[in-house]
Amino acid sequence: MPSLNTSIVSGPLVRRLSRGVAIRHGAREIVVGAGAPIVVQSMTNTDTADAIGTAIQVKDLARAGSELVRITVNNPEAAAAVPAIREQLDKMGVDVPLVGDFHYNGHTLLNAYPDCAKALSKYRINPGNVGQGAKRDTQFAQMIEAACKYDKPIRIGVNWGSLDQALLARIMDENAQRAQPWTAQRVMYEALVTSAIENAQRAEELGLDGDKIILSCKVSGVQDLIAVYRELARRCDYPLHLGLTEAGMGSKGIVASTAALSVLLQEGIGDTIRISLTPEPGGDRTKEVVVAQEILQTMGMRKFAPMVIACPGCGRTTSTVFQELADRIQTYLRDQMPAWKKQYPGVESMNVAVMGCIVNGPGESKHANIGISLPGTGESTAAPVFVDGEKTVTLRGERIAEEFQAIVLDYVTTHYGKEATTAV
Ligand code: SF4
Repeated sequence: MPSLNTSIVSGPLVRRLSRGVAIRHGAREIVVGAGAPIVVQSMTNTDTADAIGTAIQVKDLARAGSELVRITVNNPEAAAAVPAIREQLDKMGVDVPLVGDFHYNGHTLLNAYPDCAKALSKYRINPGNVGQGAKRDTQFAQMIEAACKYDKPIRIGVNWGSLDQALLARIMDENAQRAQPWTAQRVMYEALVTSAIENAQRAEELGLDGDKIILSCKVSGVQDLIAVYRELARRCDYPLHLGLTEAGMGSKGIVASTAALSVLLQEGIGDTIRISLTPEPGGDRTKEVVVAQEILQTMGMRKFAPMVIACPGCGRTTSTVFQELADRIQTYLRDQMPAWKKQYPGVESMNVAVMGCIVNGPGESKHANIGISLPGTGESTAAPVFVDGEKTVTLRGERIAEEFQAIVLDYVTTHYGKEATTAV
């Protein structure tokens, strides 16, 4: 009979060793790589030329927890608006570094709009969209010159939807010479990885410090992304920006991004992440930030906000009371976090359980910092509350939600932050 494996281990593998890239705005410095906490970033979908609208969305993304925010800089109007966006953010006290996303005309815009080049904290360069033929090298060099001149880091951001066709043709030619040619898929992987690494090396040859370069190779298939990043991680020590491009809408986008990123993060690959969700019409752009944070937090890699543990509900609880309470508490906790983060350091580690009935309710509630076990169908209309594993009170009546929220707030104020050291 085979013996049982008793060496059960958990937790992420050791992070891949990479260089560290500092991205700065004013006194704010975000480090990507070199073992620093994995950075959450996002991108706006406003017209950058609309400085006020863009500044408001950047503020919302930063408030939700985005540590870097990328904006497209696609034309002269957008480039002209960037300093105004930065100024508006500074006035609002939002010091999140801005990343400029350039395609086709970045060399022209960075040269013609020096205030834009200065206001941005990092430039994203897509080597597939820098230019064609003889112009390509010159235009790439002009962008690197701007990065050197203004002392800005860059991301070489390869995307399979805009892969450098000349490089792809070269790799296909090389493949044709092989005794046993690779599959088209492997050729594509090789072209993506080669494009990122060769362009990074070219940037260094042009004078950019290697500690100012981040790489990404985005594709839209989960298995493709895993294969490409494993290879990229093996062949260089630049920090890596992870993200599944065109992940999609709703649950599909979330699931695909989570599936791909979790595998890589667990292998220690990835220094900053962005979740490319397609928002529902009129949907909230900050969802991509929440999803990125939840991936990192549920994997035990970072902590951003208290977690709400809630059961799925079943036939034992036919009312919606516990769903409403779970939703209310989750929303409340997230809304408080911008203030709590400063006031009550450590609060992001708190767990709150909201459970639907007696079957798992008391047990799960005892494992959380605070838990409530609501009455299931036919159970007496009492909701015991557990604090640090001990039953402290039983709530009844119409105001269970308000009273439970007050208990949560009381726990936060007495267990976290400076005041808590004397109160506990
Ligand atoms: S705790 Fe109760 S209501 Fe929730 S899933 Fe379990 S049995 Fe169903």
